[in-house]
Amino acid sequence: MLSVVLPAYNEEKMLAKAAETISGILEDAAISYELIFVNDGSRDGTWQEIEKAAKKNRHIVGVHFSRNFGKESAIFAGMANASGDCCAVMDCDLQHPPETLVTMYRLWEQGYEVVEGVKRSRGKESALHRASAGMFYRIISRAVGFDMSRASDFKLMDRKAVEALLSMPERNAFFRALSSWVGFRSTSVEFDVQEREAGESKWSTWSLIKYAVTNIVSFSAVPMQLVTVAGVFVFFFALVMGIQTLVKFFLGHAVEGFTTVILLILIIGSIIMISLGIIGYYISKIYEEVKGRPRYLISKRIGGSHEGTEGMD
Ligand code: UDP
Ligand code: MG
Repeated sequence: MLSVVLPAYNEEKMLAKAAETISGILEDAAISYELIFVNDGSRDGTWQEIEKAAKKNRHIVGVHFSRNFGKESAIFAGMANASGDCCAVMDCDLQHPPETLVTMYRLWEQGYEVVEGVKRSRGKESALHRASAGMFYRIISRAVGFDMSRASDFKLMDRKAVEALLSMPERNAFFRALSSWVGFRSTSVEFDVQEREAGESKWSTWSLIKYAVTNIVSFSAVPMQLVTVAGVFVFFFALVMGIQTLVKFFLGHAVEGFTTVILLILIIGSIIMISLGIIGYYISKIYEEVKGRPRYLISKRIGGSHEGTEGMD
């Protein structure tokens, strides 16, 4: 069975349509399915719409958050409540074309464990949005170590990958990147981002900035190590300045007492910065430990009495 997780935040206008379209397409393709709508603390009639849809179609499951916890939390809640052998995640505004779901499912049947939806085009958005998204993806791609610029939250994952994600205790999980981080046999499917038919995008500029910062920080300690790098630069600068000051002093050009002041500022400044960097490095290690990601993930096993494939740390 295929579980489809659909986070929904103030989507009353799109919900019934999404439920009908997606279930129609999956029924036509003869795929047994369940649709898990996660109402992420909507302030409109989204939950009533989910209840209505669930009454009409017994394949529909609804999960109701007590307040808005954000899309990533909704995705994880949906996966935790999924009972299918594979689990897809898509937006419930139909910007992710449901036909692609069938393609993804067929790839899963062929043995792929993670099928990533990759954006062929980014749909309509403002120039500013495009530029800042571009910058975010450049930074995050560096941090994660693979190209994320066309990545999306539209994916299909095997149960093994879902269990792996759910086993991670970290709070600020960046779903889009973690699904690649877990590895497994993966492939990708291109899709065109559709235009939103009703309702509006939930992302304000501020929430996008917060999203960017949280996710960069959850995947990389590079910003913290900038201090160390800066410290090293200041140190070299200090060496040059120190030599120049000493030369002036010995040539007798220096103002009385000024040499000592310059030297002290330079030495103390670079020592402080380098020490901060060292402390930062330890904090980054602590941060990695606190995130408690599994040390490894096993996707297959052969021999012995165990049949299982879980083998998680
Ligand atoms: N969403 C959510 N919680 C939020 C914000 C968004 O569950 O706090 C859902 C939303 O209902 C939609 C998906 O995440 O199904 C993508 O949101 P949106 O369409 O606003 O983002 P965009 O497509 O503009 O990137
Ligand atoms: Mg959308």
